Amino acid sequence: MIFSNSLEEHYAHLEQIFKICEEENIKLKFSKCVFAKDKINFVGYEIKEGCITLDNHNIESIKKLRPPKNVKQLQGFLGSVKVHNKFIDSYAKIREPLNQLLKKDKQWHWTAECQEPFELLKNKLVTKPVLQLYDPKLPLHVFCDASHVAIGAILKQPDSSGNLHPVSYHSRTLRIYEKNYCNTELECLATVDALDKFYYYLHGKEFIIHTNHAALVWLKNVKNLRGRLFRWSLKLSMFDYEVKYLKRTANVEADMLSRHPTAQYIQHSVHLLELDEIKTHQNLDNLDNSKYKKINDVLVLKKKNLFKIVVPFSLRRKVLQNAHEQFGHPGTQKMINLITPQYYWPHINQDISVFVKHCDVCQLNKKESQKRFGLLQTVPPTDRPSEYPSIDTVG
Ligand SMILES: [Zn+2]
Repeated sequence: MIFSNSLEEHYAHLEQIFKICEEENIKLKFSKCVFAKDKINFVGYEIKEGCITLDNHNIESIKKLRPPKNVKQLQGFLGSVKVHNKFIDSYAKIREPLNQLLKKDKQWHWTAECQEPFELLKNKLVTKPVLQLYDPKLPLHVFCDASHVAIGAILKQPDSSGNLHPVSYHSRTLRIYEKNYCNTELECLATVDALDKFYYYLHGKEFIIHTNHAALVWLKNVKNLRGRLFRWSLKLSMFDYEVKYLKRTANVEADMLSRHPTAQYIQHSVHLLELDEIKTHQNLDNLDNSKYKKINDVLVLKKKNLFKIVVPFSLRRKVLQNAHEQFGHPGTQKMINLITPQYYWPHINQDISVFVKHCDVCQLNKKESQKRFGLLQTVPPTDRPSEYPSIDTVG
């Protein structure tokens, strides 16, 4: 591909290339060449005047896609969308319901909740999302954000009128173990993940990271870094960046990639239940509203400056089960520490204690259920050498 800024320049460039071809005896097939185009289709993309979009041909084939009938077809669909995920904002968030169907023990059941993200992903690609072509001469801006569901980032560069325009999107759902990270760690993770993803654009360049959390400063000030924090800070030290803080409202875009559109304080709490199911069950259970406050349609109780979500009876077992299984069967006190800062119901501590005592898995694995070791016995004398090998430990 030969790129020039003007037609005259293009002729000059072409002449240079032809000369080289002649000297090196390289032959070009005329029918496969196109000249002086302001728009070209290249490996599935349409590139035109500094913008990059999907090729028309690809769009037609996406439009025709029918809902998948089994896991294999779903994997095929997601695979073909994933190739274009840099065009889709909040990609990870949208496909999350579809991920559930891919799980091994899950039975195939295509519902309206699956149809919706399927259509949405298709639409996002069909409506010709436009990204700006990367220009190494322009300043780079990275916008990051994290939630307890997913992390997301957008790489932007100023367009001709100075407004920041997306060059690439990135987002992914959290892995199971990452869901246990605290907010600060999640923000760090989002940043490190974004730098990994945009490595080829960012490495060796000065750029600006926009974030709404002091996570990066925190990481710089933690003493005696170990494990993943150490790896992250090492990774960050490879880049030449400046951090700019955004007010919560200003980072709306990256926020949308990773966040439910609800009050922030509720957001960080909801990791054992889905917000929608809390709302539905709270309505169904006819809770005594006079004691509680309603914020964004969710009943909460203010206790010691913490807003706790009021869990209706029908969901309590689910909270206990999720917490107990997600965090590796902790004991009563640990469970209380995990659940009670965020959730409330009357006699919650008692319920937790009863639940833990009756967990089958814990019962089977409790230390007390093992047989006690017997007393040491003397070993009878041997008849020949090396008949009884034995090993001793000290201490
Ligand atoms: Zn257990």
